[in-house]
Amino acid sequence: MTRWTRPSVRGLQPYYNPMVEDRIRMDTSTNVLGSNPAATTLLNSIRDVDLNQYPSTYSDDLRKELAALYGLEPDNFVVGNGSDEILDIIYKTYLSFDENVVLHYPTYSLHDFFAHINGTGVTQVDLDEEFQLDTENMLSKPGKLLVLCTPNNPTGNALRRDDVLHMIESWKGPVLVDEAYGEYAKDAYLPLVTEYDNLIVTRTFSKAYALAGMRVGYCAASEEMADEMMRVKIPYSLNRVSEMCAIAALKDQGFIRRSVDVVDRNRVPLMRGLEELGFEVFPSQSNFIMALSPVPADTLISGLRDKGVLIRDFSTKRRLENCVRTTIGDEELNAILLEKAREVIEECR
Ligand SMILES: *Cc1c(COP(=O)(O)O)cnc(C)c1O
Repeated sequence: MTRWTRPSVRGLQPYYNPMVEDRIRMDTSTNVLGSNPAATTLLNSIRDVDLNQYPSTYSDDLRKELAALYGLEPDNFVVGNGSDEILDIIYKTYLSFDENVVLHYPTYSLHDFFAHINGTGVTQVDLDEEFQLDTENMLSKPGKLLVLCTPNNPTGNALRRDDVLHMIESWKGPVLVDEAYGEYAKDAYLPLVTEYDNLIVTRTFSKAYALAGMRVGYCAASEEMADEMMRVKIPYSLNRVSEMCAIAALKDQGFIRRSVDVVDRNRVPLMRGLEELGFEVFPSQSNFIMALSPVPADTLISGLRDKGVLIRDFSTKRRLENCVRTTIGDEELNAILLEKAREVIEECR
């Protein structure tokens, strides 16, 4: 660290950056059906993209498609380079250096990251034993922005709907609901942005839409909030090709239904398979499962890696001691994962 570093970024750790090679990826909760087919077809057919001109400043064509899908207005949407960019925009738009964001713990680590790099204070409030909100405790904390993630990453469960609505109604400032796994869940909060003027809901093309490599995300909010966030956003942050791919993907909702179906069919069998190997599994309404490993998690992770399968390690995190997270595969991927895990566990004995 040089002596010039801004205090708020000192001590930052590098983000997850595994040696992938040809390993099976069950570590990032992406879509196990593979690349989005409509976007792939489009990429194979485009010949005349004008690379010389800037893309649309605010990705207006994609905002129109999103509005049509959800029955809202294009002006309710902000589109960005992954929903991670949207998170950054939200912190930049609503939080000053002396203000605070209230997060639940555990949750998606980049909330804490974006708050820190934007110089904002963070208060974390533990989820309860069932990884549900401690609503009154959270509401009692001073802060301007409240962040809820449902279904929550890395725990996999959805927060209770009554609790989420209670929080949105009781919190005095903006409430961000990170719905990256919304397509897989029973409840959806995005449609409520016209009902609550303090609600911002983020979503992504990286999970159910199978476009993580294209980096497209968005949020919905009141037209007033969307307008303020658009002014903060880096102009042209979403490139033209990514915008075209996202539009093609939105128009193929059949693929999204198939993607959700494959997860719904394989979630319980994977849970049962893991339990038979001695894992304790946690409830999931997403396309991944968090599980407590029956052997030291680092042994499990490195053993699986040597056998060609990547899953994600959370074992060094408080409340998640010895826990790992795996994407829910199709029948074939889950069979491979369970077989390799069985081998690693047997080698430990
Ligand atoms: C994957 C994920 C995101 C990030 O999505 P991108 O659009 O790829 O930036 C945001 N929030 C949660 C909870 C996620 O799991």
